[in-house]
Amino acid sequence: MKYPFLDLADANRSYQEALQQAAAEVIASGRYVGGPHVDALEQNMCRIAATDYAVGVSNGLDALRLILRAAILDGRLAEGDEIAVPANTYVASVLAITDAGLRPLLVEPDPATSNISAATFAAALTPATRGLMTVHLYGRSAWDPAIERLALERGLFVVEDAAQAIGAEAMTLDRGRCPVGSLGHAAAFSFYPTKNVGALGDAGAVTTSDRSLAEKIRALANYGSDRRYHNVYEGFNCRLDPIQAAMLNVKLADLDRINDLRRRRAKLYSELISNPRVVTPPLPADPKECVWHQYVVRCADRDRLAAYLASQGVATDIHYAVPPHRQPCYASLPHEPLPATEALAASILSLPIGDSTPPEVIPEIARIINSFE
Ligand SMILES: *Cc1c(COP(=O)(O)O)cnc(C)c1O
Repeated sequence: MKYPFLDLADANRSYQEALQQAAAEVIASGRYVGGPHVDALEQNMCRIAATDYAVGVSNGLDALRLILRAAILDGRLAEGDEIAVPANTYVASVLAITDAGLRPLLVEPDPATSNISAATFAAALTPATRGLMTVHLYGRSAWDPAIERLALERGLFVVEDAAQAIGAEAMTLDRGRCPVGSLGHAAAFSFYPTKNVGALGDAGAVTTSDRSLAEKIRALANYGSDRRYHNVYEGFNCRLDPIQAAMLNVKLADLDRINDLRRRRAKLYSELISNPRVVTPPLPADPKECVWHQYVVRCADRDRLAAYLASQGVATDIHYAVPPHRQPCYASLPHEPLPATEALAASILSLPIGDSTPPEVIPEIARIINSFE
């Protein structure tokens, strides 16, 4: 493909020397679990999410699982409780809910943003809803004062799935503009290699300003121990690998540039795509609300568009072709009809927007999209 969807080796090439030096430091340190690189990653995440605490963990799914299990230990949620979650999300959001013995309530997206809105959230809520997992899908913050008011009125426990949205911001009810990671009670981040800031393997983090949750999450991720050989919970081993922390500290220093470039690519696509058969995602009112993890267009003739683009050298992807409720593992999951979610899954197409796509080539890709008949 002349225009690859995302070439990870190419994306990491500009950090190569710094990454090699960081890896060499870990190798020489003799400290292969925990240690200064993990501490530094946690400090970086507190700064980026504007929270009091951050816990480095093994991956994004574990970050979500640990938050929900800590909320149960803390008495904020109880097994069997209903947690609202967008129906249009990556399956990991829902996996974390069912893994903790909670019940997902699938909420339809607003088709324009692909995220839940206050209206779709309000329409789905039931008297049994106890929590909300909001997912900042495609890097667009799924949060506003109206959603926050609903969550507050209902006393919901709010988890952010911020896996795709590191560095994005949202308007809050009475705290002004805040970064994702600080909007609910706790937030999960993923550093899966394809995310805006990717590790060279699996990694994740939890951010929260709730001390009790932070302590429980840290303990749960470390065999449930609050100090050595003292196990207060039946825990797990979900620790962040220091070599990944060292890689991530290099790349997190570049977060603003990474996200600014994604905003530039998105703006170019939105300005230059003029094919009436292709619907572009709306630019947010404030550019900071979105870090464009994906740039997702909609087309009634999606499969033919994808094939045409491939024939012209443009690689694309679909996020996600099969929504969680259509996965075999959730064949018996109860849910209302989800027509908006299914219509999206049938029409969405993700264009190259990652670190291996220079903004200079966006006009060429847009020209090819505009030539689709
Ligand atoms: C990537 C992702 C996850 C899972 O993160 P991993 O690090 O891959 O476990 C969860 N939710 C969303 C929305 C994601 O995009």
